[in-house]
Amino acid sequence: MLPHEPPRTPPTGFLYFPPYRIQGYSIAGEETVVQVPELDVCFDIGRCPRLALNSNYVALSHGHMDHAAGLAYYFSQRHFQGMGTGTVLCHPTLVKPIKNLMTAWIDIEAQRTPYKVVPMDPEGAEAPHEFEVKNTFYLRAFSTIHTVPALAFSIIEKRSKLKDEYVGLPQSKLVELKEAGEDITYIKEIPLITYMGDTSPGAHFDRPEVTDCKVLITECTFMERDHRDRARIGRHLHLSDIVRLLPKLKCEAVVLTHLSRRTFIGDAREMLQRTIPEEHQPLVHLLMDSRTNRARYQQQEAEAAAAAQQQNAQ
Ligand SMILES: [Zn+2]
Ligand SMILES: [Zn+2]
Repeated sequence: MLPHEPPRTPPTGFLYFPPYRIQGYSIAGEETVVQVPELDVCFDIGRCPRLALNSNYVALSHGHMDHAAGLAYYFSQRHFQGMGTGTVLCHPTLVKPIKNLMTAWIDIEAQRTPYKVVPMDPEGAEAPHEFEVKNTFYLRAFSTIHTVPALAFSIIEKRSKLKDEYVGLPQSKLVELKEAGEDITYIKEIPLITYMGDTSPGAHFDRPEVTDCKVLITECTFMERDHRDRARIGRHLHLSDIVRLLPKLKCEAVVLTHLSRRTFIGDAREMLQRTIPEEHQPLVHLLMDSRTNRARYQQQEAEAAAAAQQQNAQ
């Protein structure tokens, strides 16, 4: 008798909401790492899969092992592969423990790995609550409710816009006004992608960073009807919380992560179809539903090919 082959790991979750890719891996208690390559950010680091190394920034929602285990490896591999020093942005309470972790590795490995830790204080008291990840794109932290101090992150584009009263004036007039010291612009904030980490429902879901972002990535650990108590005890979301949230959202897409490992993806897909009102169905995606997401991407590829063909014909 031949032995069984080892179990295959599920494929990396992948969704494309132009111009952003949302990719990674997320199963509650096991591993959560969600990368947006276009914005140079990984939300949480999970066990640090290879793709995570390409992000210069890790926005760490909280210290639970399934979200933070790969941190030392992330710093080490970045350094080892000559990719520059990695940076983790985290709750201020985690700065010292992360430094302790990296100090412990100096003794274990007999070498020192460079790393950067940036505290993100949601209250803005001990440290700023925002960090510029690239020109005009900012990561903003705000608090969620979990069993440990926990953060959500939103990537916000800050665009300088002409104030309404100056729109339509000739360029020469605008230059003149500006030179005279007139403040002719204001900053428009556009929340692009918001990642909720692990969290209970609460008022933090009413923030504009959540309701008005393009893509909302949120945990939904439990889906079964009789798992509501588990969600409440573990300070997690249940599918019923998502259903309540959907009417408030102006998002283009909602990506569900952190599903319990006891829930099979096929069952989850069915529960979503049964539970989510029809008008909201197209909005909701499961990061780890590779079959549905692959079909969606093939459709996007076909549409892109058709569009290119049409353009060539013109
Ligand atoms: Zn978790
Ligand atoms: Zn957690």
